[in-house]
Amino acid sequence: MTKVVKLKYGNTKCYIIQGIKKTILIDTDWAGTLPNFFRELGEHNLKIQDINYLFITHYHPDHMGIAQNLVDYGIKLVVLDSQLKFIHQSDYILERQKRKNFEPINDKQIILLPIAESRKFLKDCGINGEIISTPGHSDCSVSYIMDTGEAFVGDLYPIEQVALYDNPVLTKSWEKLKYANVKKVHFAHYADEIISDWSQIKSV
Ligand SMILES: [Zn+2]
Repeated sequence: MTKVVKLKYGNTKCYIIQGIKKTILIDTDWAGTLPNFFRELGEHNLKIQDINYLFITHYHPDHMGIAQNLVDYGIKLVVLDSQLKFIHQSDYILERQKRKNFEPINDKQIILLPIAESRKFLKDCGINGEIISTPGHSDCSVSYIMDTGEAFVGDLYPIEQVALYDNPVLTKSWEKLKYANVKKVHFAHYADEIISDWSQIKSV
């Protein structure tokens, strides 16, 4: 059985998924939040050594701000091939915040994972699920979909907003979640949502 732990130590909800063999963390918060991260881990009786892998839903500053700090502590950052060219896109924003001790990702330390092999990688962690590309908020956005029907989607715009955006890329991403039998969505900034009305997605 996998267990999900929600971490909130700033602006972004981050999720720990404890698999049978390995534990993964999905997302971090802004640069400078490392002390808050440690405090929040402690609240859940977890230690940094308990986390094996870090995955990022998309490389915006409020999701990858302390990624390299965590790598320095021994967590392995797993970058999907679809995300590789985006991992430094937020560096210029974070480097302006000098006092936050931002560290850019060290490319030599990442694990590069073809997104098509995500199911196997997760299975080796003792987690049944897959990772799919779900652009719309950003080109590098991915969603982590568990076979239980739970999905961790980062900043994907909620289903109610799909019609408003009228963006085929966003609609397509929600279609992918539909076909993956997603039932419950965990966002980084919105409340969790049980998806019951798929008719809001009009095929493109
Ligand atoms: Zn965000």
